[in-house]
Amino acid sequence: MYLPQEIIRKKRDGHELSAEEIQFFIQGVAKDTVSEGQIAAFAMTIFFNEMTMNERIALTCAMRDSGMVIDWSQQGFTGPIVDKHSTGGVGDVTSLMLGPMVAACGGFVPMISGRGLGHTGGTLDKLESIPGYNITPSNEVFGEVTKQAGVAIIGQTGDLAPADKRVYATRDITATVDNISLITASILSKKLAAGLESLVMDVKVGSGAFMPTYEQSEELAESIVAVANGAGTNTTAILTDMNQVLASSAGNAVEVREAVRFLTGEYRNERLYQVTMALCSEMLILGQLAKDAVEATAMLNQVLDNGKAAHCFNQMVQGLGGPADFVEHYDRYLPKAEIVKPVYAQQPGTVLSMDTRAIGMAVVAMGGGRRVASDLIDYAVGFDQFIQLGEQASQDKPLAMIHARDEAQWQQAAEALNAAITVGEGRYTATPCVYKHIRAEDLA
Ligand code: URA
Repeated sequence: MYLPQEIIRKKRDGHELSAEEIQFFIQGVAKDTVSEGQIAAFAMTIFFNEMTMNERIALTCAMRDSGMVIDWSQQGFTGPIVDKHSTGGVGDVTSLMLGPMVAACGGFVPMISGRGLGHTGGTLDKLESIPGYNITPSNEVFGEVTKQAGVAIIGQTGDLAPADKRVYATRDITATVDNISLITASILSKKLAAGLESLVMDVKVGSGAFMPTYEQSEELAESIVAVANGAGTNTTAILTDMNQVLASSAGNAVEVREAVRFLTGEYRNERLYQVTMALCSEMLILGQLAKDAVEATAMLNQVLDNGKAAHCFNQMVQGLGGPADFVEHYDRYLPKAEIVKPVYAQQPGTVLSMDTRAIGMAVVAMGGGRRVASDLIDYAVGFDQFIQLGEQASQDKPLAMIHARDEAQWQQAAEALNAAITVGEGRYTATPCVYKHIRAEDLA
């Protein structure tokens, strides 16, 4: 028999907790027999003392098992169950292409996604800009669409990892969010409850990333790979760049439009292509659908070129309540802003840097994201035709097109973009789109 306060004391005094002690504490969180004060103290002791990898694995498994863990074994999927998760970015629309691309190559992607958080956009908010798209289908529909289309992207149900919900809410008000042990367990408990066989984790690096430095992003990636593999899910992390908006657009409907145009080949931003291909390719390798990156790349290019990936996307949209002809007629369905016009740099020059976090906040300020959970989203607003680092801003080349509701909102967004993007005469050194892969064997 354990006591929550004794578990907290043991960790406070620098000792390693056993898996049983962690399970006992987390079961108490789920059953409400552990108080908010005790969760806060537990989180703070971890904040100061960190957790060993064994403790992180035990915490992840205990939070995963605090609610329903989806079992797909009766569903009759004929390929591997693979997924991707990202630490969040601006213009990061990869999930919308990646799910259908992997599905078209034989994988099954039951993706449980989140809403926008802070400056980062949320996949669910983007998908909700498609009329009729239901992000909260029954478990039966979720399984059926995943089986038919190979991919279904939906929202978190209350039954998945409920202990994390309580722990996260307490961390949020006690300055204990930014801790690698707790972030690892929080992200993975929710993902692993979705019954995956393998996972690719996209850990962002740069001015729009969740972690403030490259080293901390790398540390988080290593922690996630060690813990997820320790918990039995084959996982690779890829460090990718978030020093600029990833796609050519940032917002909700504008990003969905870009995703469809990417899938059909109408337009592909090169950086978005590189990152999406790296993530998809690793998913195919982990799922044993391809033996290496060369084979995976060929398979992925083929399903882009022959329309299979676009077809899987359309099947998913239709299966979840959206229009049957969405891919063909996306412009008829996606909401549009009243004012769409370019913003120019105050003086011509090279684009030297972007404060990507500030650009994400500019989307939020226009109503494209939430400041508090109850805020309603304006799906039409945002940016597209975004300039890239190293390009020349001039009177012929705007920083972006702003999609706004009115002149005042356009003006505010224009000022925010000019403040967030540094244009000048200095030298710009390009950074890679994909920094490195971290696989389980790299940590051994
Ligand atoms: N996202 C999560 O789901 N949990 C964290 O702790 C941080 C980011």
